[in-house]
Amino acid sequence: MFGTTHALTGIVLSQTTSDLPAVFGLSFLSHIVLDFIPHGDNLIVLGKNSKEKRVPFDLSFSQAAFRKLIPYAIVDGIILIGALIYLLFVIRLDPTKTIVAVIGALFIDGIAFLYKITKWSFFRKLEKYHHKIHQVITRYLPKGDVSPVISISLQIAFAVVVLWTLSI
Ligand SMILES: [Zn+2]
Repeated sequence: MFGTTHALTGIVLSQTTSDLPAVFGLSFLSHIVLDFIPHGDNLIVLGKNSKEKRVPFDLSFSQAAFRKLIPYAIVDGIILIGALIYLLFVIRLDPTKTIVAVIGALFIDGIAFLYKITKWSFFRKLEKYHHKIHQVITRYLPKGDVSPVISISLQIAFAVVVLWTLSI
């Protein structure tokens, strides 16, 4: 799922409380809840011509497969930075709360990133759980996930609704 989707969810939740640990906790938990929802990543990782039909449950797929997510991650990062500039400097949301929400919401992806670059077994263990959450529901779907096009469209619509709601 896009970091932008996770971060904006955390920011929406941060509007419900001014307690910073609660903001972090809610954002962190929201990432886990959202990752259960099938969102097309598996089909992007596998690609159209992949010999593998399904993303394995145990995080054993290749680095080459993971690399397919990089262009999406770059666009996602640019959109997230743009959204944050808008929310902090135009809408003027509370900067501390907003940053804590974003850190909480993206904390698990941070661990995934650390695992990818360090390969440390501690991070691998944590990342395995993260990976499994994605597969809990998707493994029962006929193609192993939902259509990435539909998922990406829904996530863009979600971002527009959140940014619009926060501006009124
Ligand atoms: Zn995740």
